[in-house]
Amino acid sequence: MTTDAALAADEAGPIPSPLANPAPAGRWPHRHLLDVDVLTPDQLDLVMHTTETMTEILARPIPKVPALRGWGVTNLFYEASTRTRVSFEVAAKNLSADVVNVTASASSVTKGESLIDTIRTLEALGARLLVIRHATAGAPNLAAEHFGGSVLNAGDGAHAHPTQALLDLYTMQTHLEGGSVAGRKVVILGDVLHSRVARSNLWSLTAAGADVWVCGPATLLRGFDAWAAAGVGGSRRFTVTSDLGAALREADVVMALRIQKERMASGLLPSLREYAARFGLTRERVALAKPGALVMHPGPMNEGVEIAADVAAGGQSVITDQVANGVAVRMAVLYLLSGARAVGA
Ligand code: ASP
Repeated sequence: MTTDAALAADEAGPIPSPLANPAPAGRWPHRHLLDVDVLTPDQLDLVMHTTETMTEILARPIPKVPALRGWGVTNLFYEASTRTRVSFEVAAKNLSADVVNVTASASSVTKGESLIDTIRTLEALGARLLVIRHATAGAPNLAAEHFGGSVLNAGDGAHAHPTQALLDLYTMQTHLEGGSVAGRKVVILGDVLHSRVARSNLWSLTAAGADVWVCGPATLLRGFDAWAAAGVGGSRRFTVTSDLGAALREADVVMALRIQKERMASGLLPSLREYAARFGLTRERVALAKPGALVMHPGPMNEGVEIAADVAAGGQSVITDQVANGVAVRMAVLYLLSGARAVGA
């Protein structure tokens, strides 16, 4: 356990950790979290152990600690979101931050205010931690150049979704026997092309030693062959295939991705019906994976397209846990970023 003893205090005494790797020594060095590509395996472990502490706090009768009292946390969302936006809000409130939510459709953005003006305005109004979601890849990076506090990317275009990848890693580690993804086969299935979830997961899962496979129709895997050949971070290999049977065989985890109709240029898929027939995650297909393999989905789901309703609600599904872990992971990241700011990183 790495977080302040006071924050972690639990009258019931220490609970054994399900995480295989011990908590690393050392402090969090990052001022912003724009993607997980900057996180070393040790830093991933630090997030995982801090998340575990937050999970313990969430299990208390009053799941609230004063860690961020007096901190302005602003959620600036330019794209639709339910679970990510709400879980950031709940996470910040659980840490006693002063939370402001800005939805772009109801702000001066509709009057043409630029992203940079908006960010400067929010900073002048007291924001110290800015959580941003934007349809354009790189918008949070631009925000980070102009914001005096810390920026946390809550999803930008098809680029990155760091807290989703972190909550996915935590969900896998706490459900897989042995508490680690090292050497485990993880299949990311579906609309990989448009998925910031897939891209961020490729960084964190390969850093944590998983054997990652991405699978889908060739049109939705474009560009990934070249990345696999070059290696994530220049060296960490993964497998790209349209052969669903080969991907699912011996899999420990199967993560179905949403078909992103809103980002789909015409012609990439013949039809959703055809996609469901060839790549939809059905009970029969889950049976090709290891017995008890975890079924995941970042949400929102198109049930009956990328995942069958009975699989999503079935005994192997950990989808609800992913949502619940989203709060703990976001508490952990907000807490770690505030620490980095406090020491002037
Ligand atoms: N909620 C995830 C995201 O924001 C996945 C999705 O939208 O399909 O990227």
